[in-house]
Amino acid sequence: MVVEVGKVSKGVKCSVENCDEEAVRSLPIDKVTGTGLKVQGARRVYLCKEHYKGYKKAAKKEKMLDKWRYRREMV
Ligand SMILES: [Zn+2]
Repeated sequence: MVVEVGKVSKGVKCSVENCDEEAVRSLPIDKVTGTGLKVQGARRVYLCKEHYKGYKKAAKKEKMLDKWRYRREMV
């Protein structure tokens, strides 16, 4: 079975502070810090499975808020 790892090579660790899990995804750092995660890195950061899950949740919430704001302005 092929595990989807994006562009993360094996053995790369999660960039979140105090997390030592193996990373599964790499993302632009501004996207990740925008969701409130504390990460260390330059332009790209690496997230483990759990933190990527949390990131996706937070990013979704943010998008929803944007939509609400937008709708309110349209009324
Ligand atoms: Zn992590």
